[in-house]
Amino acid sequence: MDIKKIIKTLKGKNLYRQLKTIERAERVYVYIDGKRYINFSSNDYLSLAFDAELNAKHQNCLKKWPAGSGAARLVTGNFSIHEELEKKLAEIKKTEAALLFSCGYMANLGILSSLLGEKDAIFSDELNHASLIDGCRLSKAKVFIYKHRDTNHLKELLKKNRDKFETIAIVTDSVFSMDGDIAPLDELLKLAKDYNAYLIIDDAHATGVIGNSSLDFFNLKPTKRTIIMGTLGKALGTFGAFVASTKEMKEFFTNRARTFIFTTAIPPHIACMTLENLKEIQPRMVRLRKNIYLFSKLTGIKSQTAIFPLIIGDSGEALKISEKLLKKGFIIPAIRPPTVPEGTARLRITIAAGHSEEELRKLAETIKSLI
Ligand code: PMP
Repeated sequence: MDIKKIIKTLKGKNLYRQLKTIERAERVYVYIDGKRYINFSSNDYLSLAFDAELNAKHQNCLKKWPAGSGAARLVTGNFSIHEELEKKLAEIKKTEAALLFSCGYMANLGILSSLLGEKDAIFSDELNHASLIDGCRLSKAKVFIYKHRDTNHLKELLKKNRDKFETIAIVTDSVFSMDGDIAPLDELLKLAKDYNAYLIIDDAHATGVIGNSSLDFFNLKPTKRTIIMGTLGKALGTFGAFVASTKEMKEFFTNRARTFIFTTAIPPHIACMTLENLKEIQPRMVRLRKNIYLFSKLTGIKSQTAIFPLIIGDSGEALKISEKLLKKGFIIPAIRPPTVPEGTARLRITIAAGHSEEELRKLAETIKSLI
């Protein structure tokens, strides 16, 4: 592999990526080279991650629980606080049980690679997150990609192919990470029942945004064949992930999901901090919904979630607008292929509970003046 050439090509196509160094973060602000920017690209939708007012509670977690777990859960890394958090997470997802994973990426790899194999099939939305795509690949199952949110296309594929396979699963983001639109979970759940399929839902951007669970948004309850993956590193403000499903599923993943078995458990103090953050989410969800409504009204960009994609198209152009926004004090990095499809480079604006009305208005006005 010619690494130098690859880097040069990426630079030539405006697809080169570079890290920005944040010196300090506080509420919705980040500091870079001593200058304060309003963060409009974080997944910290409930503004919990950088909230200094929660410091005292988090410090107590550090006093009570160790810095690291020291081992995998199945060896000597399983602390009572992990189990307490799992109980709470199952409660908010309305499932029998939940199992913690080290992060969402690993949870998705673990679910798909343990549940599905060579005799099985996965039906996956074309805009699913990279971790779901990689999980599909790792599983060795046959993968059918259906058009984005298109349940007619999915039904066609199911009709034609269901009987050729043993276990099948329909896999979808509930809130799509780069577009902010919502999967038709009511129809997907029905198709899963009709075709005897598992429904695997990635709730990374739904948890704490459109409800405690995306199924709440549709007034639906999980079935015995629903598997919900949620992350702790987004609206819940810490780090890690979990899979919520039946007790039997939990037993299965505990024994078969390699990304659960062969990795160190999340630090116990993180589990404790997540439990503290969970106590804070309800009023913040109300504030977030108000901000989403206002920003939608101000910009005309329709979104029911915290994600507002401003599609630019060309990667170079998206980079330029992102730079201009940075000069005006807003941090909104350009999202380019392969994260999004070719020709759809964008500014992925995210709204948080902690943004003030004034900050939302200022960004809306600035965008209007730049585009
Ligand atoms: N699923 C989706 C939809 C995501 O957006 C992400 C994170 N960007 C993940 C899974 C992975 O989660 P984590 O960051 O906890 O690995």
